[in-house]
Amino acid sequence: MALQVLSVASEAVPLVKTGGLADVVGALPAALAPHEVAMTTLLPGYPAVLGSLAGTAKGKRKPKPLHEWPSLLGEPARLLAGTLGVGGPPLLVLDCPALFGRDGGPYADPAGRDWDDNWRRYAAFGRAAADIGAGAVKGLAFDLVHAHDWQAAMTLAYLRFAPPPGAKVPPGVMTIHNMAFQGFYDGAVFPRLGLPQSAWAMDGVEYHGGVGMLKAGLEAAAAITTVSPTYALEIREREFGMGLEGLIRSRGDKVRGIVNGIDVAEWNPATDPALAANFTAKTLAKRAGNKRALEAEFGLAHEDGPLFIVVSRLTWQKGIDVLCEVLDHLVGLGGRLALLGSGDPALVAELEAAARRHPGRIALKIGYDEALSHRMQAGGDAILVPSRFEPCGLTQLYGLAYGCVPVVARTGGLADTVIDANLAALAVDAATGVQFAGVDYANLARAISRTVALYRQPDVWRRLQRAGMAADFSWKASGAAYAALYRELVGVPA
Ligand code: ADP
Repeated sequence: MALQVLSVASEAVPLVKTGGLADVVGALPAALAPHEVAMTTLLPGYPAVLGSLAGTAKGKRKPKPLHEWPSLLGEPARLLAGTLGVGGPPLLVLDCPALFGRDGGPYADPAGRDWDDNWRRYAAFGRAAADIGAGAVKGLAFDLVHAHDWQAAMTLAYLRFAPPPGAKVPPGVMTIHNMAFQGFYDGAVFPRLGLPQSAWAMDGVEYHGGVGMLKAGLEAAAAITTVSPTYALEIREREFGMGLEGLIRSRGDKVRGIVNGIDVAEWNPATDPALAANFTAKTLAKRAGNKRALEAEFGLAHEDGPLFIVVSRLTWQKGIDVLCEVLDHLVGLGGRLALLGSGDPALVAELEAAARRHPGRIALKIGYDEALSHRMQAGGDAILVPSRFEPCGLTQLYGLAYGCVPVVARTGGLADTVIDANLAALAVDAATGVQFAGVDYANLARAISRTVALYRQPDVWRRLQRAGMAADFSWKASGAAYAALYRELVGVPA
């Protein structure tokens, strides 16, 4: 019998995405299906998610609720069923218009300001998820609950401190996709969470006098995972643990790193419909068509020099401030840059200034554009990922799959997935990219110089591209690792 797992998250492709979390949550059900794990995903009922249900409700205009909460932390809510994408895996949606029926992003208003009741929105989401996971909804039974990031973390706290009456509480897995986002709120909200006083404890939801949602989930989880082995080690240290390093160390044997895969159906240069020219490792010459198309799309000069790309949230984490410092150097070496991203207005202004300084050589698209991100990976020569920390990182994996050589900081998942083009690795055709240690001007400038030098040796460059394209970052190994963990926790032999 397949293991029934409830995956609880605030975003999942193809319905709602602000970052890598959505790619991973969206890909997990298919990654686990070959391992006798049946995964159902629970999402908040944002307008886009509810809108998708109309299309999947088999002709019925209004999907029938599976369950109703007259008062979920004070608001009426219902549970609806659908699929994650047309013909996709099973989806549950928490329809609670007062909390999730809003314009803007999942976490912020249309002007980009975080909703000030996010604590209540995601506490209610966790409360409902705990009810569903523990079998309080007729017809749904789960062996295990898998919560992703702080927005889903309260699920495990409710299961631990306030399970539905008479429930058999399933074990919970807590996955950290980014330790920098913790869901930390004023202690004054605690009485409104509907938790018993016993939850207000050092090993409960209390965190430095406030409510720590990720912290509460980590304390309650039967196992903790993060999205790369290196990040699993890094978060034991102050620099990366963001205050939770002590907790992580204390739960040391329960923390493991499972690297994210990529959806190879979505990200395959041989079949990708977004590209001007499809190609494989054997037909790399065809990439030139994508490069020309990308130059035209960005208004960049047509030249033979290396075309760098960046697809990123524009934040301090991603090292975009250091990228700005190094752009004159990059152009001085004959490089060009096409950047797609959105985020910090101060960084956007700096990037715009660089683009004005270097017309035809540095060009930007500020915004979010999935199809363009595919075209960039297919047409760019190298993708820059100078992150100060990176739990896993997906854009370097897409780069590898598309022959867009990654140039990455040696941290987290970037360290685990890119093999530096040192002489030893080059000699055995193992190298797939360029790594540098320490995100500052000198180190990034040196990495870019090394990249340009490699690019100027076409034979070496092609070998780098081919080695990257041959690397397997499908979900095969990671799906098996999650399935093994679930079975261990549920006590079912594989
Ligand atoms: P994070 O989740 O920290 O933002 P990841 O590298 O794990 O970083 O995942 C980012 C995901 O979001 C990738 O799928 C990347 O292609 C995508 N992405 C980031 N910014 C944009 C953008 N402006 N337009 C399109 N896709 C983007």
